[in-house]
Amino acid sequence: CGIVGYIGNQDSKEILLNGLEKLEYRGYDSAGIAVRSSNDVNVFKVKGRIATLREAVDNSVETTTGIGHTRWATHGEPSATNAHPHQSTSERFTLVHNGVIENYLELKKEYLGDIQFASETDTEIIVQLIEHFAKETGDTLEAFRKTVSKLHGSYALAVMDNENPDVLYVAKNKSPLLVGLGDEYNVVASDSMAMLQVTDQFVELMDEEIVIVKKDNVTIQQLDGTVMSREPFTAELDA
Ligand code: GLU
Repeated sequence: CGIVGYIGNQDSKEILLNGLEKLEYRGYDSAGIAVRSSNDVNVFKVKGRIATLREAVDNSVETTTGIGHTRWATHGEPSATNAHPHQSTSERFTLVHNGVIENYLELKKEYLGDIQFASETDTEIIVQLIEHFAKETGDTLEAFRKTVSKLHGSYALAVMDNENPDVLYVAKNKSPLLVGLGDEYNVVASDSMAMLQVTDQFVELMDEEIVIVKKDNVTIQQLDGTVMSREPFTAELDA
């Protein structure tokens, strides 16, 4: 029931795990992180507590980019397999999602009939669709936009692409998601509280916007490609 993401120069594992701990109060049944090292993405996920996830994470992985998730299962039982992040079949794309995709069975039938799914979630359809459209269009942003425009329901999403390691692709509709701004790093979070450890400057996102998050800039677009500019607000810790 929460999302975090980090792209910058610091140890992303620690920032993501600390962020997920701040979201624990929202309730969850499982949790996971995916972190990029020099030539690979490492996924760690568990059923149960963030403390258990912390133990499962390989501390030797050097990483400055990653995404994390706490799950409140809606489709598929609580389990390590159904926990997020989820990956596309080739493992090129890695994704976390909060919300419910109402038309996931239709999308699966229409575009992904020959794909072997690893989980029982509605979420996996999204990451498989991105891979499907990336093969078709040869362009990740186009594939991401195309995928998001076909989703019905609620979503806050963050995606990593092995072929564009300096970008987090983000989108939201009817589920909370903010982008946090730092000096030589940027973050995403479903609640500013998760990332107050690294910034208090956050940008609000509107429904059906997508965001291209790099460590030194953030671009917000509508689904038709129109670029939006929006000033950050200062988040304060509730007393
Ligand atoms: N519908 C997704 C699932 O069941 C995401 C649930 C959530 O928001 O945590 O995996």
